[in-house]
Amino acid sequence: MNAPQLPLDGSCLCGSVHVRVTEQPLLTLACHCNDCQKLCASAYSLTAMFPVEGFSVTGELVTGGLRTEQREHNFCAKCLNFIFTRIKGADTRVNLRASVLDDLTWFEPFIELMTEEKLSWSSVPAVRSFARFPENMEELGALMVDYSKR
Ligand SMILES: [Zn+2]
Ligand SMILES: [Zn+2]
Repeated sequence: MNAPQLPLDGSCLCGSVHVRVTEQPLLTLACHCNDCQKLCASAYSLTAMFPVEGFSVTGELVTGGLRTEQREHNFCAKCLNFIFTRIKGADTRVNLRASVLDDLTWFEPFIELMTEEKLSWSSVPAVRSFARFPENMEELGALMVDYSKR
């Protein structure tokens, strides 16, 4: 797995939302859960997790998904492309949908989540697989350390 060339730029389908990333990713992942399948209209979602201080976004956003207290899913207000998620209690990180980035040559999912809900034919080259989610924040932290040594 390669480290991306910074800054990373990206945009939504219609081009009215732009993102810029100026720090290395903390973790990359694929999530096979049923919610991600619906949200992304695909077999799984792809996430590149970045420190919030290294992430900026311009353009009009709307929140979507289930609009729970726990998860803030942000979409382009015009084309409704899914851009990123903020998770309550994890305010130091942003979960960017990897596919909005212009350069994805560096991207591979390091871990995969929720394999108990994955489609039978669907597979990704993840180093670590979880039937559900990592047990706790310590385990997630350890995964980020492993990822940083890739
Ligand atoms: Zn758009
Ligand atoms: Zn998911």
